[in-house]
Amino acid sequence: MNYFDFHHHKKNIPFGIYNMGLSDKIPDSLYSIGIHPKDIQHDKITEQFHWLKDNITENCFAVGECGLDSLVPIDQKIQEDVFLKQIEISNEVKKPLIIHCVRKFYEVISFRKKANQAMIIHGFNKKENIAQDLLKNNFYLSFGKAVLYNLSLQNTLKITPLNRIFLETDNEDFDIATLYRTVADIKGISLEVLNEQILENLEHITHG
Ligand SMILES: [Zn+2]
Repeated sequence: MNYFDFHHHKKNIPFGIYNMGLSDKIPDSLYSIGIHPKDIQHDKITEQFHWLKDNITENCFAVGECGLDSLVPIDQKIQEDVFLKQIEISNEVKKPLIIHCVRKFYEVISFRKKANQAMIIHGFNKKENIAQDLLKNNFYLSFGKAVLYNLSLQNTLKITPLNRIFLETDNEDFDIATLYRTVADIKGISLEVLNEQILENLEHITHG
């Protein structure tokens, strides 16, 4: 079976969404492109937005990763401006948003109403209450390697409806099949059903 890897940084994964790096050529497979909070260069932001817009082609699945990160040394107000602009681009090009968020979940939620497209929090690894608030606001959650060993996150996964889930390797080196098996176990469903559901979810977010 082919397992869809919702967010990764490796060039050799044919079935998934490759997150394009700043110096990459446009890949042949599906990709996402965005200005990560850590990469914001305030004095070059116009060029950065040109880079972003110029590289959105048909193969581009989503705008991102973009979002808010309280641990990077970029002014929060600037982060919010750059995030909002990327939400507007996502509205324009009608592609979903892959969100990077560190300790800024409620700020990210406050931007939800500005977006017309689906918003997916990638690498989600927080507790149930944050998940619930995100789900109430129509976010999707993409889970990664931490699900394999983090019991509290497994509980979060239990309460997350199947139609709001994606799975990803991000920049971790492990076999995504292991993650699919663990999630199928936690959800008490077969691998086939899980796989189909993920593909259905992809279909959903593609059509707004
Ligand atoms: Zn990533």
